[in-house]
Amino acid sequence: MQASTIDGKAIADKVRAELAIDVAQWAAHAGRRPGLAVVLVGNDPASEVYVGSKARQTVAVGMRSFEHRLPAETSQTELLALIARLNADDTVDGILVQLPLPVHIRSDLVIRAIDPAKDVDGFHPENAGRLTSGLTGLVPCTPLGCMLLLRSVEPTPVGLHAVVIGRSNIVGRPIAQLLLQADCTVTTAHSRSRELPELCRMADILIAAVGRPELVRGDWIKPGAIVIDVGINRLPAAGAAKGRLVGDVAFAEAVAVARAITPVPGGVGPMTIACLLHNTLQAARPVYGLAELQ
Ligand code: NDP
Repeated sequence: MQASTIDGKAIADKVRAELAIDVAQWAAHAGRRPGLAVVLVGNDPASEVYVGSKARQTVAVGMRSFEHRLPAETSQTELLALIARLNADDTVDGILVQLPLPVHIRSDLVIRAIDPAKDVDGFHPENAGRLTSGLTGLVPCTPLGCMLLLRSVEPTPVGLHAVVIGRSNIVGRPIAQLLLQADCTVTTAHSRSRELPELCRMADILIAAVGRPELVRGDWIKPGAIVIDVGINRLPAAGAAKGRLVGDVAFAEAVAVARAITPVPGGVGPMTIACLLHNTLQAARPVYGLAELQ
């Protein structure tokens, strides 16, 4: 059996197209456009590219984009003061502080300073707690994107066994919570888990969010499973790999066993910004008590 490839780019395009219609309706009603503020401290090249891409896509769906590019030597106090201003600014519905921050700034304090109702990354402990408690809130973007990709091939994953490799606050943990809310039976694996290949072989749905190139081999996958590969790993520039991007799953092996699989690039990656824009519109509405995208 050859797995079908889940086309994250096409699904993200569809999410953004539908969002543009909702944004226009919201703007006509509110008399203004939803606004997303993105804060970048320093000049990490990957972050700069990512922030530029966010800004373009924000404008493309009809929202306002506010970019705050601050020098690397910006103090924690200055950054917290900016966040306080953005929290109080009624034209700003969503605030995203690009991570990683320079080492002299404590990310946890910065995340906690963001008004939870404007926390479009969903990293604030209040939103993390809401997700764990099954309450409506702002959900981290990459996990939300993974659920949309999963539902594109399995709309009702009720009762399926999902194995998530990775337990980070931004990816693994929130994905496990969303799968639980979708009535999956969930196993979370991590670097201390024993017999990882055996655990993976029990998965109807396998989510790899590890950051280890091609860790998951074809023979770790249950025949007919759905595989969502969150990993983005750049192989060394020298040698045969020539700096190629690969996921956490050995794609060529997995595709011969799985039912459906996300490629890297072109799978989970494109969904993240689309879900960020979805969260911004959700934040622009009275945030709590809304229907969820996932
Ligand atoms: P982290 O490094 O924060 O977490 C990695 C997790 O994997 C940890 O829970 C760790 O376990 C676990 N782990 C590490 N090695 C192993 C191993 N050998 N066996 C089993 N588990 C292991 O990474 P992130 O969660 O931030 O990101 C994961 C991947 O997803 C990365 O490749 C990242 O680039 C990618 N990513 C992609 C995004 C996208 O838009 N597509 C967005 C965000 C991330 P432990 O907790 O025990 O240390």
